[in-house]
Amino acid sequence: MAKKKSEKENRCVDGNGRLVIPSEMRAKLGLTAGSEVDFQLDGQQIILRKYNPGCIFCGGKGELLIFEGKRICTVCHAKLKAMD
Ligand SMILES: [Zn+2]
Repeated sequence: MAKKKSEKENRCVDGNGRLVIPSEMRAKLGLTAGSEVDFQLDGQQIILRKYNPGCIFCGGKGELLIFEGKRICTVCHAKLKAMD
């Protein structure tokens, strides 16, 4: 299996701790203005991921429905419907 080629780019953190995510990387992850990201501190590195919470019940990331602003997968939705 071929190893995925990673991309690297240097950026400077400004005086307020801000940095710019390279535009090509933003485009590849679909990060646009208002997109949320997660930061994870792992030893001496910070891992940044696009925020993708999944279903509020099972954490699944399959087909999601939005109800009252919460994400519910179609499997959990079907289980809820079967409850009545
Ligand atoms: Zn679910």
